[in-house]
Amino acid sequence: MAAGYAIVMALLLASLAALCVLAIQSINSHHADVSLVAAFSAAVCLVVIWLLADLVASQQRALRRERVLRSAVKSLASAGSEAEVAAGVAAAMATLAGAGCQQDSLLAVSERGSLRPAGPRDHAPPARWEESHALLRTWLPQLCDGEPRLVDGTPQTADGHLAATDAGQVVPRDPGRAERVMLFPLVPGGRAERDHLIGVLAVFGSEQHLAGLRTTLETVAGQTGLALTRVMSPNGSSRSYGEAYFRALVQDSADVVLVIEDSGKIRQATPSAAGFFGDTPMEGAYLADITAPGERDEVVRSFTRMRDRGGDTKPVVWRMTRPDGSAAEAEVRCRDLRDNPAVGALVLTLHDVTEQHMLERELKHRAFHDSLTGLPNRLLFTDRIGHALARARRNGTTVGVIFVDLDDFKMVNETMGHGIGDELLVAAAARLHDLVRESDTAARLGADEFGLLVEAASDSAAVETFAERVVCAFGEPFTLSSGSVITTATVGIATTEDSTDAGDLVRHADLALYAAKAAGKRQWRHYQPVLSVGVAKRWELQAAIDDAVKESAFTLVYQPIVKLATGEVAGFEALLRWPHPRWGMIHPDQFIALAEETGHIVPLGTWVLERAVSDILAWQQRAPRRAPLYVSVNVSARQFANPGFVGEVRRVLAASGLAPSALLLELTESVLLRRDDRIRSDLMELKRTGVRLAIDDFGTGYSSLGYLRELPIDVLKIDKSFVEGIALSEQRRAIVDVIIHIARALGLTVMAEGIESEVQRDLLVSLGCAYGQGYLLERPVAADDAEALVRDGLVRELRPTGR
Ligand code: C2E
Ligand code: MG
Ligand code: MG
Repeated sequence: MAAGYAIVMALLLASLAALCVLAIQSINSHHADVSLVAAFSAAVCLVVIWLLADLVASQQRALRRERVLRSAVKSLASAGSEAEVAAGVAAAMATLAGAGCQQDSLLAVSERGSLRPAGPRDHAPPARWEESHALLRTWLPQLCDGEPRLVDGTPQTADGHLAATDAGQVVPRDPGRAERVMLFPLVPGGRAERDHLIGVLAVFGSEQHLAGLRTTLETVAGQTGLALTRVMSPNGSSRSYGEAYFRALVQDSADVVLVIEDSGKIRQATPSAAGFFGDTPMEGAYLADITAPGERDEVVRSFTRMRDRGGDTKPVVWRMTRPDGSAAEAEVRCRDLRDNPAVGALVLTLHDVTEQHMLERELKHRAFHDSLTGLPNRLLFTDRIGHALARARRNGTTVGVIFVDLDDFKMVNETMGHGIGDELLVAAAARLHDLVRESDTAARLGADEFGLLVEAASDSAAVETFAERVVCAFGEPFTLSSGSVITTATVGIATTEDSTDAGDLVRHADLALYAAKAAGKRQWRHYQPVLSVGVAKRWELQAAIDDAVKESAFTLVYQPIVKLATGEVAGFEALLRWPHPRWGMIHPDQFIALAEETGHIVPLGTWVLERAVSDILAWQQRAPRRAPLYVSVNVSARQFANPGFVGEVRRVLAASGLAPSALLLELTESVLLRRDDRIRSDLMELKRTGVRLAIDDFGTGYSSLGYLRELPIDVLKIDKSFVEGIALSEQRRAIVDVIIHIARALGLTVMAEGIESEVQRDLLVSLGCAYGQGYLLERPVAADDAEALVRDGLVRELRPTGR
């Protein structure tokens, strides 16, 4: 600096010397013009020299800043602790101010949502520490957008001074001097992390002064941010960085994350914790303090187990009561980060599985119970017979299976309406339920058919005595909303004295019931072998299927699958029909089960696949569309169990040339029940060929949501019984809502079956169900009519009028 001014002075003297000579000459020669020239030259010379001096001064300012930056970068880059960063900032400020001047500044770091002066607290006098905290509290709200900000000067404190100095930091002692403060928010990285403030650099001074230094200060702040990030990073073993990082990661998490010490004391919690534990302050509380009293012991025991095993154990489920009193379930995982310097604690993650478990329980209940009467259904009844037989074998007791049929129920339904018919069924179910012992079972097997399972009877005579009581009980009238109604009952009995096979017992009870009906109703009959003669009808049907399969006497109809919002035809479901010359059009419900039993389903299924694939291909070729069209084919459990099934699908696709993605295979939940490896590998294999897979009649089998996650399923078809209920009850709608919700979360396409009314369709659309099929949209139609729909593109119900 001195050298620069010396040169300017030398220049000044040199030019003034020449001017002096000129001035003396002009005095001696008395030439006025020479004096004028000398005066003008002197003025020009002074201006040039003044400009030169200013240039030198600004260059020197730049040099000083450069030196500040160089030394700041150097000391900040080598800082190994928060205190050293603070000292580096203070040194940079001192260099910036120049000798004898003071550049006031304050470096603060964020901790637990507030700011504190950087550096070790022990070095600062307590009063000063509090003062700087007061300052920082006023600044924090102004730093939210991550941009530097000029704010008002220091707030006046009790003694009018502020000087929180530790690690060489300075804040103004004279508030009058520092009417403005420039705040530089410090963030860990680039713009993306602006929300996560790790500290602030505050520089005090007049507005003009700060404006002049802004560029330099921005660079110092940038370097300070980097240095703080480094020293606070997990490797730098600073917990406050860990906390900032934790907050940044999990702040918006729907799961609850608790950082928890060995003692059960919570160090940190995500805001979502309020959903489980209420609004009580979490941080600093013990797990036991925030858990409802009834659940406390179990939660603490579970936490202790996880802690002692060192975390990373299998997830466990905690049953909890929410602040509003409702029950909740959380899947809890524990990670042991006690050795991690940035955390130094256990991390519990609580995933809310209340809805999912509720749905699973509801689906399971529906799968095994009749929705009208609440009694076990045929599936559960059959299962219980199996268990009862096993027990009877051990105990040497007799098991009785009793079929109960309501006499003339059809007439009640037709003359008094379905509402009264339903009331009667509910009342009959309640009466049967009251008749059986706790250990026995009353089930609803069909429309007006009930089953009773009598366990641990001494002999067949005891079962017959019970059947007599049932017939008598139905002699009493039922009180319904329309008045009193008498409906008698007819009963068929089979016991383990006739056969110890579950299937036989059911068949025998059925035959006995028919015999009792034929004998004039309102009585009971015990099975006799002679009744089996009636089974002949079954053989007749079986023989007919045999011939029909050989002669390909079946046909397919197609029901459109529609995009609900627009009415566009997205695909077709192929449905089997058996036009019989004597018995008329037979629907699959009447022969698929038998074809499965006899094994005819395998060649029949192959025929359906070939025909459906060739039909869709022909329609695609004759009426090309922009949107891809697919065909959906039902696959029965027995068909899928056949080891050649996957090969067959490949062969049919290869022979036809249809794109595999245009084939959707519909499997029922029963297929997936047996979770063996072959099912899994077959599904994977089909998936690899490009075929899409759907779960048909979702919600009617044993609906574990687990398999949806584990198996490569693309489409979930909600059973029509759900769709039926959706417009009738809020609870049913809530279930459909949860199904759609979960399916979408798993990336599955949802389709609804059996849409019969506009209300159902509109509700499904509002719940987010994209596709559907049902009589409202189109009934199953013959192949030619289906092709016409392909050409039209829209189904009748949603086709614009006039077409
Ligand atoms: P699914 O696969 O659930 O087929 C839907 C059934 O619901 C069809 O009965 C269809 O006509 C009927 N449906 C469609 N919309 C409505 C509606 O709005 N209301 C009502 N109440 N019903 C509607 P379909 O054709 O009698 O088939 C019955 C079942 O037979 C099928 O149920 C499927 O499980 C089975 N099935 C049909 N074709 C085949 C086949 O080729 N192979 C196998 N293995 N099973 C088949
Ligand atoms: Mg289907
Ligand atoms: Mg279905």
